[in-house]
Amino acid sequence: MAHPYVTIDLQKIEHNTRTIVNLCRAHGITVTGVTKGTCGHPDVAKAILRGGVVGLGESQLENIQRLKSAGVETSYLLLRLPALGEVDDVVTLADVSLNSELGVLAALSQAAGRRQRVHDVIVMVDLGDLREGVWPADLPAFLQEALQFPGVRVIGVGTNLACFSGVMPNANNMQRFVDLVGEIEGAGITLHVVSGANSSGLSLIAAGRMPPRINHARIGEALLLGRETMHRQAWPDTFQDAFVLHGEILELKKKPSAPLGERSEDAFGHLNVFANHGIIDRALVNVGREEVTVEGIVPCDQRLTILGASSSYLVVDVTAAAGCYQVGSEMTFFLNYAALLTVMTSVYIEKRSMDGRRMSAAR
Ligand SMILES: *Cc1c(COP(=O)(O)O)cnc(C)c1O
Repeated sequence: MAHPYVTIDLQKIEHNTRTIVNLCRAHGITVTGVTKGTCGHPDVAKAILRGGVVGLGESQLENIQRLKSAGVETSYLLLRLPALGEVDDVVTLADVSLNSELGVLAALSQAAGRRQRVHDVIVMVDLGDLREGVWPADLPAFLQEALQFPGVRVIGVGTNLACFSGVMPNANNMQRFVDLVGEIEGAGITLHVVSGANSSGLSLIAAGRMPPRINHARIGEALLLGRETMHRQAWPDTFQDAFVLHGEILELKKKPSAPLGERSEDAFGHLNVFANHGIIDRALVNVGREEVTVEGIVPCDQRLTILGASSSYLVVDVTAAAGCYQVGSEMTFFLNYAALLTVMTSVYIEKRSMDGRRMSAAR
């Protein structure tokens, strides 16, 4: 079987991690490395740990379980808010979880109590990105309640920006966050962890404008793809190509650039527009929507243009590189985060190390 495959350069991932960890350390910030973009791949997780993070962050308990079975020993932070039905697994698999609901904390407390344990939690605060988190005005009362649960220990507070509404972290909203932390501590509650950043906060940290009270970051994309996420700029001294997708050309023919005949929607309900520039060289590659979020890939060869995709094919204009590609030729692609997520999760994409070894798939 000739599956399309993704090559994973573990040395580049380790290097990226070390760059980010050193930057954060210089500003008093420890880093939890987020592996969810790789479906919790054990080799990637190990590379990230070699790069100096204090633990791993995952959104799926299943991924934490797989990492642990693969012998990856570290502290695990569950990033996605726990579901009520999974609290027993949360307290056994995760060392820390992010939380925003008192009902869930009560259930976690009971689940931990049943095992004579105490489960650590970080309470999330919503600074305006409008995804997870307690509203700032409600935080003091929330924490007073949370401290009553014997099976959970509130080790700190956190906030997440940029991911849902695209609200950017800046000196203003971060200061609001640490002011709130000061207010809570003024009331006699100790917060060890003040988790204030993901990859969108790196520019603020590097500029020395992240308030010093922030001492923890949860970073994924910058380690895996070498980018901050406010402007998706390549981060200095990191690699953007630790992951490369490889497909194979299944058909290569000269055909018109514009479709013939009366047209309606494509297989995915889109009305596509195709420019007419005569006869072109069209390649069909074996990476379709079943394998990857096609909008998130860019051909490594800049002469190539992606024309579109269906569930099993990518259609590429190779006219500008005519003669360089044949049926059976490989075509390679850089990935963005969405594409990485799908490629690492797809059962149709083989995972390979740089020496061509087949890596055990995450799933
Ligand atoms: C995914 C996630 C992160 C990591 O975000 P990046 O932009 O990849 O650095 C951090 N925190 C939470 C809560 C997340 O879900």
